[in-house]
Amino acid sequence: MLDQIQAVKTRALAELAAIVDLDELETWRIQHLGKKGTITQLLRGLGQLSPADRPRVGQAANEAKQALEAALAARREALEAARLAQALAAERIDVSLPGRSPRLGTRHLISRTVREICDVFVAMGFNVVEGPEVEWDHYNFEMLNIPPDHPARDMWDTMYIGEVGAPMLLRTHTSPVQARYMETHQPPIRIVVPGKCYRYEDVDATHEMMFYQIEGLAVDTDITLADLKGVLDRFARALFGPDRKTLFRCDYFPFVEPGVEMAIDCHMCHGAGCKLCKGTGWLEIMGAGVVHPKVLEGVGYDPAKYSGFAFGMGP
Ligand SMILES: [Zn+2]
Repeated sequence: MLDQIQAVKTRALAELAAIVDLDELETWRIQHLGKKGTITQLLRGLGQLSPADRPRVGQAANEAKQALEAALAARREALEAARLAQALAAERIDVSLPGRSPRLGTRHLISRTVREICDVFVAMGFNVVEGPEVEWDHYNFEMLNIPPDHPARDMWDTMYIGEVGAPMLLRTHTSPVQARYMETHQPPIRIVVPGKCYRYEDVDATHEMMFYQIEGLAVDTDITLADLKGVLDRFARALFGPDRKTLFRCDYFPFVEPGVEMAIDCHMCHGAGCKLCKGTGWLEIMGAGVVHPKVLEGVGYDPAKYSGFAFGMGP
């Protein structure tokens, strides 16, 4: 019996020495010190011994049990310390490292173009202002000399908020900001208005339901078509290069009189005619004109005293 106790103890300690994780350690504990464990079985067997042998064997069995319990506690402590050290090493944070800067991306091509265009006009003394995209018919059409049933309304395929002809709509151009601005400011006025516009379009390579426009307006005493040409010539050269030629031709917009369209000489063929300019040598870049006296009257300006020019382009 004493040999058996010694054998169990030796085997259990050898197994314990090979254990490397806490789960295995628990299995070992159940196997040797649990209710049905080897040591417990030995202690239960004491009852069958003679009273003379019982104390000696009992003491040996208890010593074996205590030895295994002590060894178990020591092993557990060592394994837990190892696990903690491993976790600390794996989750170590070096607070002295420099931070990671977030990826910012880049500005969209349209945003860049809008800024570039506005910068040219800002350099000539214009201010950048903005207005609402959901607009009243009043500002989008009526204040721009386009009353209800005016045939020019067909120039814009309007998206209304509600049914067709409703008083509220998605602005079809940035021009309503002209009227809004003049209502609340007195001349001299020099503004550019970038923003989104909406029209019910068949979408193709050159048409979209939502697109950008940049509007310009100057109102002062003695402003003429020559001022418009001077400003837009300078703009074209600033944006498209100092050698750019410009061309102004008659066009019609209800809110200007006279109205013009402006073109620059084609940068692909330099005026000779190619596919890009459809053989004309010119590329149309915007509509413009001298502000219609009715528009000035509508915002309370005296057309005999003030005049102005306006222009609009798609960036
Ligand atoms: Zn061309």
